Amino acid sequence: MIPAFTATPNGTGMLKRQCTGAYKIRPIRRKMRERFGFQKFRLWIGFSLDEIVRAAPSRVKYITHRFPLLEKRMRRGDCIQWLKRHKFPIPERSACVCCPYRSDDEWGRMKRSSPEEFSQACKIDEQIRNNHLSRKRHNYPLYLHKSLQPLRTVKFSNPNQLDFLEEEECAGGCWL
Ligand code: SF4
Repeated sequence: MIPAFTATPNGTGMLKRQCTGAYKIRPIRRKMRERFGFQKFRLWIGFSLDEIVRAAPSRVKYITHRFPLLEKRMRRGDCIQWLKRHKFPIPERSACVCCPYRSDDEWGRMKRSSPEEFSQACKIDEQIRNNHLSRKRHNYPLYLHKSLQPLRTVKFSNPNQLDFLEEEECAGGCWL
């Protein structure tokens, strides 16, 4: 389950994040096995200096982690400057289409520049709320947006959501 928002008797809450292993760690390991078979790997992970708390050793013996941006002491801003200097486009933060750790600014940009992705996110938003299993498991309806409104109907203008994101991005266990 993704860290979806939900109403609780004590206010807005979030589900525990359980998606990182399923959506990131296991698919990457599977792909590496598919392409390179049973050998040892060094996996380069692009955490910048701002994300140093996310850097952790690999939990499996056949993978060793390397963090090139930490070795170069580069922060997110340094990466953006580097991209500009080399005339590359500035990418969005990487995240699953349905990730609730998004500011209104990011949702709005997705809606404008990637309407297909936004439509996918809206469908997921409806599914997590309306499907039978979700209703059986969770006492309260689930939402991708902090406002506890269907994503399709949200007007993305809540600047406070950025405060929440400062502390709560796809960090810690998400390791990518
Ligand atoms: S980006 Fe978001 S939805 Fe995707 S694995 Fe990380 S926390 Fe989960």
